[in-house]
Amino acid sequence: MVVNRGRWYSGSVEALDFAAARRCVVETVGACRPEVEAVPLAEAAGRVLAVDVVADRDYPPVDRSIRDGFAVCAADVPGAVRLIGEVRAGEAFAGKVGAGEGVRIMTGAPLPDGADAVVMVEHATVRDGMMTTEKAPGVGEFINRAGCEARAGDVVLARGVRLRFPQIAMLATVGLSMVPVYRRPRVAILATGDEIVTVEAAPRTYEVRNSNSWALAAQVTAAGGLAEVLPVAPDDLEATVAAVERGLQADLLLLSGGVSAGEYDFVEAALGRCGAEFFFTRVKIRPGAPLVFGRARGKYFFGLPGNPLSTAVTFEVFARAALELLGGAGEPPLPIVEAHITKTLREKGGLTRFLPAVLENGTGRVTPIVWKGSSDVPSLARSNAFIIAAADRELYEEGDAVSVLLQ
Ligand code: AMP
Ligand code: MG
Repeated sequence: MVVNRGRWYSGSVEALDFAAARRCVVETVGACRPEVEAVPLAEAAGRVLAVDVVADRDYPPVDRSIRDGFAVCAADVPGAVRLIGEVRAGEAFAGKVGAGEGVRIMTGAPLPDGADAVVMVEHATVRDGMMTTEKAPGVGEFINRAGCEARAGDVVLARGVRLRFPQIAMLATVGLSMVPVYRRPRVAILATGDEIVTVEAAPRTYEVRNSNSWALAAQVTAAGGLAEVLPVAPDDLEATVAAVERGLQADLLLLSGGVSAGEYDFVEAALGRCGAEFFFTRVKIRPGAPLVFGRARGKYFFGLPGNPLSTAVTFEVFARAALELLGGAGEPPLPIVEAHITKTLREKGGLTRFLPAVLENGTGRVTPIVWKGSSDVPSLARSNAFIIAAADRELYEEGDAVSVLLQ
C-alpha cells in the first residue's frame, strides 16, 4: 500500500497513458461468464448470447431456386422446353424434369428432380405451353445447393455475441424461441457533491442539476447494463462510505465527482474505507485525468471525474469495456473512424484529448466544436463524436486525417 495525499492506494500512483489504462481495465476484468437466463426471442435483442448456436439442419435443406423462373436441364437452353407443371415456395414438385421439359418455379421453391438450372422469368417467353429463352444459364445457376449456406451442426452464432437484428434472424431461422442469454449486469450509479440537486429541483445559483447520473444511466443501458441511480451522496466521508457500501451490492459501481484533489473530494477515501484496491487513479487524458479504477468487496468500481464531459468520455472509453465484459460479451473495440478535420486544431499535447465534434455523415469530414471545457454540457449536446487528438501531437491542420470516436 502506498500513501498519497493522505489517502490509501494499493495500485500505481503514476498516471497511466490512455492505451495502458484501457489495457489495465480489459485485462483486470477479463472474460466473465455471468449467470444464464432464457428470454423469449422477442426480448432477446441487445442481450448477450450465452451458448454457441448450431444449425439444426442444412441451410437450405434442399436445392432451392433463388429466382422466379423455370427449372430446366441446362443442356436444353438456349432453346424451348415444354412446361410440365409448376412448383411454389412451400411445396415440393412430385414429378421429374426430363430432357426438353421445364417446370415453372418460384423463388424459394425446391428444385424439381432432374432440373439443374433456372432460367429467370425476365429471360423467358411462354407460349402454347412452351418456354423459350435465348439465355444459357449454366448448371447450378440461380440455385442454392443444399447446405451451401450452413451445414447441420455448424456453429452459426458464437457465445458472447451481442444480439442485433442479424443474429435475431439466425435464432429465428434455427427455431430458438427461448434464447439463453447472460444476466444483465446491475450497475449502481452514485453521483457525489453538495452542489448537485435533482433534475426536478429549482437550483439555486450555486447548485447544479444532476446530469451525470442520467447520462450514465443512458450509457449503461446502451451497453446492456441495468442502471440503478442512487441518491446523490453529499461531500461527507461517512455519508459517502455508506453510499459506496450500498453501491457495491451491484455488479459494477460508477461514481461521479469527488476524485479530484479538492478538500471535499472524499470518494477515494470512502472507497479505501470499504477495502478498495486501486488499479489506477490517474490517466493521461483530457478531459477525465483523475479517473479511478479499482475493486472493493469483490466488485469493480470507477470513480469518474465529475465534470459532465469527463464523466461521459471516461465511461465510453473505459467503464463501458468493463461493463461489456461483466455482461459476458467480448471486449468491444472502440468505435473509432478516421476523418478529415475541417479546421486547424492546435491544442497542448502530452495527454490524449477527446474533443467534442460534429462528424458529417458520409463525407468523412469532422469539425471540432468550440467548447468551454469539460463542464460545457451545451457543447456536448451539439456533438455526435469526439476527435481523439494524440498525446504526441499538438497541431492538426485543416484536411489532416484524425481519429474520431463515435458516440
Ligand atoms: P468534482 O469532480 O466533484 O470536483 O466535480 C467537478 C465539476 O463537475 C463540478 O463543477 C461539479 O459541479 C460538476 N459535477 C459533479 N457531479 C455532477 C453531476 N452529477 N451532474 C452535473 N455536474 C456535476
Ligand atoms: Mg464534487
